[in-house]
Amino acid sequence: MNYDVMIAGAGAGGVPAAVAAARRGAKTLLLETGAAPGGTMTAGLGFPVCGLFENEVSRPPRLLNGGLSEEFFNAVCEADRDPVVTMGRVYVCRCSAALFRSIFERWLDHKNLTFIPRITGLEAETSGGKIGPLRFRTSDGVQQTVFPKQVIDCTGQGAVIRQSGAARIEPAKLPLAGFAVRLCGIGPDLLLSVKVPYQLRKAVEAGALPDWCRFTFFSPGHPDGREAVCKFSPPAAFTTDETFAVVQRALAVLRAEIPAFQTLEIIECSPAVLQREGVRLKGRYVLTGDDVRAARTFGDAAARGAWPMEYWDAGNGPQYTFVETGPFYEIPLRALRSETFQNLWAAGRALSADSAALSSVRVIGTAMAAGEACGRAAVENVI
Ligand SMILES: Cc1cc2nc3c(=O)[nH]c(=O)nc-3n(C[C@H](O)[C@H](O)[C@H](O)COP(=O)(O)OP(=O)(O)OC[C@H]3O[C@@H](n4cnc5c(N)ncnc54)[C@H](O)[C@@H]3O)c2cc1C
Repeated sequence: MNYDVMIAGAGAGGVPAAVAAARRGAKTLLLETGAAPGGTMTAGLGFPVCGLFENEVSRPPRLLNGGLSEEFFNAVCEADRDPVVTMGRVYVCRCSAALFRSIFERWLDHKNLTFIPRITGLEAETSGGKIGPLRFRTSDGVQQTVFPKQVIDCTGQGAVIRQSGAARIEPAKLPLAGFAVRLCGIGPDLLLSVKVPYQLRKAVEAGALPDWCRFTFFSPGHPDGREAVCKFSPPAAFTTDETFAVVQRALAVLRAEIPAFQTLEIIECSPAVLQREGVRLKGRYVLTGDDVRAARTFGDAAARGAWPMEYWDAGNGPQYTFVETGPFYEIPLRALRSETFQNLWAAGRALSADSAALSSVRVIGTAMAAGEACGRAAVENVI
């Protein structure tokens, strides 16, 4: 089957890339290994959407990017009249994982767009400086071969980049990863957001839990307080089973120490350990931490970002470095385009950036804007 644009990965970068391409008239294919769109946002059981606004909380929030970012924000506002909240020096947009997914599902319903979830075994051939054809298996095990003119890797782990042998950036050292658990059976207690980290820190100091349990966040998720989400930050190399075993020990500590947690149960958890950084594209430009810090702008700007560089250091937890000299930095189109293959692009966590810059551009708002820019640029390059 022939397509103008093929995107791998239906997360924060991939869905806007596919929708941007389809709305510009391109015959578009979006492939996803999971069952539904949403990516890390849904696997993480919901995050505040970062990277939508300029980092200037002394004045009202200003969107960094128009297009799908603005459409997304308007859709969130229809469900929650006042979704913007401040977190220290930055604005974020509250959005549940369910709302995020439903906005993406609505966008994907487009006549030019085919979405195939639950694929396996994606493989890419290359020839003459181009990528393609690509092969994959559908959920019923049938092998498909597709011939896209342009290919966008939004898998968050450089699946197409690795498969095709395109020049890539391998992280030297990985930041802490993430793993979320949704909890129920919680009794009334207004101080849980303080008590949970306090008790976990005490258990770490007593040697009952590993050090990374110090960086756990607890967010009461339900208005009646009986449900909540707890976010752990395991080392990137931990398996899901290893992480889950520690999470169960941590919850045993909380049950023993906090009366409101006596009947605490897990009702849902992340399907895997969620990586903040991985293999990504080596593009025609590598965005750097200095570019982000200095609010650098570019002649071929494709999208804007402003989220502080947020590096999850194994020893010290999250470390923030703010964009200092301007309201935003720009991502050049060259950082979305492969230096190896003319028709290969990447957005989201797979775009071309050093580790410091990636710790800013990876957030959902910026991933969406870069994804949309990638989809647009890919269509302009369809010959
Ligand atoms: C622990 C943690 C906490 C975070 N907290 C926040 C936060 O509070 N706010 C915020 O804005 N951002 C947050 N982020 C960042 C953000 O969620 C991600 O960086 C962002 O989702 C990246 O978008 P993406 O499209 O690159 O990847 P993803 O959203 O991860 O999407 C990638 C998609 O590709 C699919 N895929 C993988 N391999 C293949 C393949 N071979 N073929 C087809 N599909 C494939 C995956 O199933 C997935 O659906 C957090 C990230 C982590 C890990």
